[in-house]
Amino acid sequence: MKTYTMNNGLTIPALGFGTYLSKDGDEVYNAVRKALEVGYRHIDTAAFYGNEESIGRAIKDSGIAREELYITTKLWNDAHGYEEAKAAFALSLEKLQLDYLDLYLIHWPNPAGIRDRWQAANADAWRAMEELVAEGKIRSIGVSNFMVHHMDELLKTATIVPAVNQIRLAPGVYQEEIVAYCREKNIVIEAWSPLGRGELFTHPTMLALAEKYGKTVAQVALAWSWAQGFLPLPKSVTDSRIVENLDFEDIALSEEDIAAITAITGVTGAYNPDEVNF
Ligand code: NAD
Repeated sequence: MKTYTMNNGLTIPALGFGTYLSKDGDEVYNAVRKALEVGYRHIDTAAFYGNEESIGRAIKDSGIAREELYITTKLWNDAHGYEEAKAAFALSLEKLQLDYLDLYLIHWPNPAGIRDRWQAANADAWRAMEELVAEGKIRSIGVSNFMVHHMDELLKTATIVPAVNQIRLAPGVYQEEIVAYCREKNIVIEAWSPLGRGELFTHPTMLALAEKYGKTVAQVALAWSWAQGFLPLPKSVTDSRIVENLDFEDIALSEEDIAAITAITGVTGAYNPDEVNF
């Protein structure tokens, strides 16, 4: 598996396995077991997904050595704060049955419940996360859904620059300003909903390019993500698709086709994190 090197010198597998809406219990357990069996080594979950326990079991039962795996989870919107972040992290680690976590992200920059004080709340949560790095409990820390102004605010007090920003990116969803910002700071850009949550599968441009390269729409979307230097997190609970979403390394998109995919319209864009109602 190809890797990216983060701004802290550590590496991260360049493809992750998404688990949002993969139901706790057999569904997510079987999906993660399958993913690990066929070669994924990077699993993306979140406290909010409610499936950390089943994922922890799948990781343990896989028998794969801990150091070969890369596990990410996220701090939910009810735990922005110093003590809260420490407690939320401890619970996630326990559910995942791990001794340390590879990557811990602040899930949203500006939750509805703390909209009047998100700056201080993020700074406090980040300080807790920095301490957990110093204690060896977390290898890397990052953020998710952060726009430029959220980043600038965090960097006023941070001693560790986020290693990762996980944002919505797919053909037709290209958040230019924050992408440029992260590239400039060598922050790895993870792409959530890299398959456009299903919307790309009937898009004429994607269908034509899938035909041209003799691949599926999902594979072309993932090849585009890599061509941009993004780290896509495709999600599936279907065995054949889990395998399919690993098999795109051989696609060499032309510059022209990359531009055509970037310019796609008609796909749902990213939410504004300052306006979401959660
Ligand atoms: P996605 O773009 O990965 O699309 C998943 C959908 O596409 C599923 O419904 C699946 O049935 C379908 N699919 C998957 N592979 C396919 C294939 N080969 N052919 C046809 N259909 C296929 O969407 P997602 O799950 O929203 O995003 C991926 C991951 O990103 C999540 O699981 C989660 O880990 C992460 N995520 C993070 C955030 C965040 O706020 N940080 C938000 C959403 C998702």
